[in-house]
Amino acid sequence: MNDDKFAKVRLISKPDNMLRTVYTACRTCYSSESPINIFDSESALDKEKMLKLIKRVISSGHYSTIEHIQVSFAISNISRACSHQLVRHRHMSFSQKSQRYVKEKGQFEYIIPESIDSNDELKEKFTEFMGKISDFYLELTQEGIPAEDARYVLPNATATSMVASLNLRELIHLANLRLCTRAQKEIRILVKRMCDELTKEEEWLKDYLVPKCERLGYCDEDKSCGRKTVRM
Ligand SMILES: Cc1cc2nc3c(=O)[nH]c(=O)nc-3n(C[C@H](O)[C@H](O)[C@H](O)COP(=O)(O)OP(=O)(O)OC[C@H]3O[C@@H](n4cnc5c(N)ncnc54)[C@H](O)[C@@H]3O)c2cc1C
Repeated sequence: MNDDKFAKVRLISKPDNMLRTVYTACRTCYSSESPINIFDSESALDKEKMLKLIKRVISSGHYSTIEHIQVSFAISNISRACSHQLVRHRHMSFSQKSQRYVKEKGQFEYIIPESIDSNDELKEKFTEFMGKISDFYLELTQEGIPAEDARYVLPNATATSMVASLNLRELIHLANLRLCTRAQKEIRILVKRMCDELTKEEEWLKDYLVPKCERLGYCDEDKSCGRKTVRM
């Protein structure tokens, strides 16, 4: 798996007033002021003040305040194995390239996992095998088998693309689980790229878009990478 070629990700949509919206949601819960007045107030222009309140509210588990923020990513060049892991996250929305409606015309694109990519002999065999699968897929479709049935021979390695959207609460949860070294490398790279795209514009989120051990302060996995002390 070549890190540069792998998982192309672009943030295609996010709200303009992200920090101010979260701040308004947080303060609305504890203030006699109306949300409109809070949004228009001087304090909603004071970044330090907003960040302090948001940190306190999030660390106390008051997560509805971060559900108001929805972001969308355009994602391509990930394997079907990886997309299957991503779609397990139930608060995300997906629009994925269909293998029913999009017929492969030649060799389908595929992702080679790093462990195979770094072994010349196995990589060659892997590539050859993908070629054989492609030949059979093309034979099926040329025989009039619809793409939706011919796709049954396509492997987990097949490359896919999608638009994925989620709110900030789910993104933090996704990062906590999938930036952990226990997650497979491909989805780790994908989620890291999603987080990087967002933190380029919203740097304040860097403290939240971290593996779960950073939030917990310890590791709750059986097999720890050693980044944090294992919980006893
Ligand atoms: C390292 C790793 C290994 C994994 N291995 C396997 C595996 O071997 N087999 C396998 O099947 N899966 C596996 N998974 C997937 C895992 O079980 C979850 O399905 C996936 O990580 C989504 O997590 P989630 O349910 O917390 O998150 P989401 O679906 O994103 O939901 C977020 C949160 O919402 C709440 N929630 C959502 N739906 C419900 C509900 N119906 N009821 C109650 N609360 C809900 C929960 O608090 C949940 O944490 C693995 C995941 C990881 C990170």
